[in-house]
Amino acid sequence: NLSDKLQRSFKNLRGQGTITEENISDALREIRLALLESDVNLNVVTELIEHIRARALGEQVATALSPSEQIVKIVHDELVNVLGKDTARFQKSSQPPSVILMAGLQGSGKTTTSGKLAQWLKKAGHRPMLVSVDVYRPAAREQLAIVATSINAQLYKGDTKGEPADSKLVERLAKEAKREAANYGCDILIVDTAGRNHIDDALMAEMAMLKKLLNPSEILFVADAMTGQDAVNSAKAFNDHLTITGAILTKMDGDARGGAALSIRHVTGAPIKFLGTGEKPDAFEPFHPDRIVSRIMGHGDIATLLERAESTLDRGKAEQFAKKALSGDGFSLDDFREQLRQIKKMGSMKSILKMLPSVGPFAGMQQAVENVDEGQFTRVESIINSMTNKERQNHELINGSRRKRIAAGSGTTVQDVNNLLRQYGQMRKMFKTMGSGGGIKAQQRMMS
Ligand code: GDP
Ligand code: MG
Repeated sequence: NLSDKLQRSFKNLRGQGTITEENISDALREIRLALLESDVNLNVVTELIEHIRARALGEQVATALSPSEQIVKIVHDELVNVLGKDTARFQKSSQPPSVILMAGLQGSGKTTTSGKLAQWLKKAGHRPMLVSVDVYRPAAREQLAIVATSINAQLYKGDTKGEPADSKLVERLAKEAKREAANYGCDILIVDTAGRNHIDDALMAEMAMLKKLLNPSEILFVADAMTGQDAVNSAKAFNDHLTITGAILTKMDGDARGGAALSIRHVTGAPIKFLGTGEKPDAFEPFHPDRIVSRIMGHGDIATLLERAESTLDRGKAEQFAKKALSGDGFSLDDFREQLRQIKKMGSMKSILKMLPSVGPFAGMQQAVENVDEGQFTRVESIINSMTNKERQNHELINGSRRKRIAAGSGTTVQDVNNLLRQYGQMRKMFKTMGSGGGIKAQQRMMS
């Protein structure tokens, strides 16, 4: 991944404190390739590379970071910049219902996403109503009805019997739905529309008619992240015709690298608002620029990891742990054992380690991922169980003879005990680093 490549192109720079025109060119070439491979649009890449070069060359020498770390940080910041700093909020109209018009090609995920959005809005305390004006495929309207039932959301069904499937019918349904939403006291109307395989005049004319009729406060472009560059082209076309207010990237659970997010943002100027991460109604999350950037850069995803930890771990314990681990004191073997127990609840160790970044203090851990032996948990726990309370509070007490005793007591070998103590030492160090530098934000997130 990109971070690894950067590390490599900077390998022979060790000991050099400065970034120069010459030593940066290799890295910039790698960055360029990696961004293109991640489906970032060529114009965007060119512009980004210039920003990165300018910033890198202007960077102060007296920083604690090595050149490669500086570059990684600059690239990260610049990508986040393109995406915009914050998760976007919804616009509302002064008169309810506010209308959200869903736009996009067929199969991009409009209907599925309409349901996800309705569920998300419900959880946020809104009363959304759904309507499908995809009259051209009867199954499409039925699909939305099924989704609405499954999430227990209001749906305007309307009567289409015997009517020709044309823009007239679309217009009538849309008008009725808006009135119905107002009557039911629904504050938001989500309008699921028809898509085509390609952009055509009839589709755009109909969308323009809906825009004029409904005066939507949001026009959300739904894009399949797996389609990469095509998604960017259709985003541009929809934006040229309709001026979208935001985009939702679906199918991010696949192996899409997320570069489409950068391109869509850059080409349309509209923020990415949500990501779809699966077929189920709750596989949906607000967009966080830094997460996508981490994904593109192969940093792993600390924020997601911490959130997952937070929702699974007992909250009080998690807070205590974060305070302790991230403070200068580090954390004891008791805490370590407690963490292991909690982690066991979270899922496999491998999946958790995979989310750690592959740079800086974490560099060695990716390799460790491949060697993780899930059964080792039990072994580690029994080793810690065989320690005395004092030893668990202060690992420095554990000398050679104590190691022998602990190994015998837990039915393991001195080597196993040594390994455990080494791992524990690494973890202590890692948490300390997180607490004193780049991890501050994560720490706050975990403790707020
Ligand atoms: P529409 O034609 O734009 O309305 O698209 P649909 O909502 O019918 O979705 C097309 C297909 O994509 C369906 O099979 C959905 O289940 C699937 N889909 C939609 N969003 C996601 C997602 O975030 N992840 C995955 N894996 N599948 C999705
Ligand atoms: Mg549909």
